[in-house]
Amino acid sequence: MTPRRPLVAGNWKMNGLLASLAEIAAMGGVYDAPLRARLELVVCPPATLIGMAVDIATQASIGLGGQDCHTAPAGAHTGDISAEMLKDIGAAYVIVGHSERRAGHGETDALVQEKAAAALRAGLTPIICVGETRAERDAGDALTVVGAQIAGSLPADAPGSIVVAYEPVWAIGTGLTPTVADVAQMHAFARERVEARLGGGKSASVRILYGGSVKPSNARDLLSVANVDGALVGGASLAAKDFMAIADAYR
Ligand code: PGA
Repeated sequence: MTPRRPLVAGNWKMNGLLASLAEIAAMGGVYDAPLRARLELVVCPPATLIGMAVDIATQASIGLGGQDCHTAPAGAHTGDISAEMLKDIGAAYVIVGHSERRAGHGETDALVQEKAAAALRAGLTPIICVGETRAERDAGDALTVVGAQIAGSLPADAPGSIVVAYEPVWAIGTGLTPTVADVAQMHAFARERVEARLGGGKSASVRILYGGSVKPSNARDLLSVANVDGALVGGASLAAKDFMAIADAYR
């Protein structure tokens, strides 16, 4: 039994209109007391919906998170959103360093680390994403790449309450997943690297999520792997039915 409370987080990415709030309400209908006792549930909708999701999510005991934040608390940064703004509107988490931002917005480990520090400064829990590309895995470099991302993306003084998400880039949105053995190897390695970075035994409380094509049919296998403390779910988090079928792996 892990001492860590499992976390299943939904990353809606650039999906979700007002009507999608009904999905959060529906999730709440399934997230009953027995399930709440077993895992924490978080939804990261687009920032446009967070404010309007607060009442529904609070009633359902579901947490809310942003998908990115700026490093500064406020200022002349057109189009950006600060961690303080997310906190102010009712978020408790923020995803930083997702591979779609690393690839699509040129985010480096150094920037991701600054964003994670900004989240902590604002009182948010950062979900810090790492993961290798297909080419890196094929070259036998998956552990090296992820180890370097952990060393570079986690603030050295971060508390044990932070969350790390291992998301192999090639598994995101593809329907492909690593083998259970590969996930076990990577998560054990990631925890060791988190400890090397943070020290003080903090890694024992850091939740390390698996992400990349998690769906109801594979959730039970992936989530029962040692050192896997939950999931970061993309596509399958948009519909309450699928997302709650994944959470049900903990029932
Ligand atoms: P996916 O996305 O579940 O659609 O593969 C996961 C993610 O990008 O967080």
